[in-house]
Amino acid sequence: MSLENRYKTVLNRINSSNVELLAVSKKQPIEKIKQLYQLGHRKFGESYVQEAIDKIQMLKDFGLQWHFIGPIQSNKTKYIAQHFDWVQSVDTLKIFTRLNNQRGDEQQNLNVLLQLKVGGEESKRGFNTNELLSICQKANDFKNLTIRGLMSIPAPTTDYSLQVKQFKECYQVFQEMQKIFPVDTLSMGMSGDLEAAIECGSTMVRIGTDIFGRRK
Ligand SMILES: *Cc1c(COP(=O)(O)O)cnc(C)c1O
Repeated sequence: MSLENRYKTVLNRINSSNVELLAVSKKQPIEKIKQLYQLGHRKFGESYVQEAIDKIQMLKDFGLQWHFIGPIQSNKTKYIAQHFDWVQSVDTLKIFTRLNNQRGDEQQNLNVLLQLKVGGEESKRGFNTNELLSICQKANDFKNLTIRGLMSIPAPTTDYSLQVKQFKECYQVFQEMQKIFPVDTLSMGMSGDLEAAIECGSTMVRIGTDIFGRRK
């Protein structure tokens, strides 16, 4: 299938004007990003800092919106704060604070999603609900960041009812956040589970494989 057909198929699966599509272009060549641009797409997600910065610089005249969605190491926050429009994978208060301090005062605020740990496995990244809500209470102290909502990456499963169970948990935490701070973005759903995510209130799905094909 052509990139155009894959893209249109994904848009049909989303089938809602209230859900945004983030095209996850990590490990994909810049040519494919340009092709998607030609089709009118503007929002892209990347997971690896150096690869992402190379692409951002090469495409700086295209007016794209860049989201960082990968694991964040402290020694990379400076580059992420400088180059991205959104960061979806903020998973510790330390990273959150560093991004705030390293975002230029002359730049627009960096849009941030707090990553929620779902499924309760100790090894997984993300905040638990209490930690996440306590950051929302202090949101106004962080002048260079705007908290926009939460992001989650539940354990992959092909079991639809299990997908729904995990996404419902995320939606409930998102509603708790909304009582504290005016957040508008619930980023959940990938190629294998976007339908379940949308059924449970997702406002943004992050799709790589089903748009671009397998990663290199
Ligand atoms: C790679 C990635 C995606 C896209 O996954 P696909 O299964 O290829 O759609 C979405 N979200 C995050 C956080 C990712 O790292």
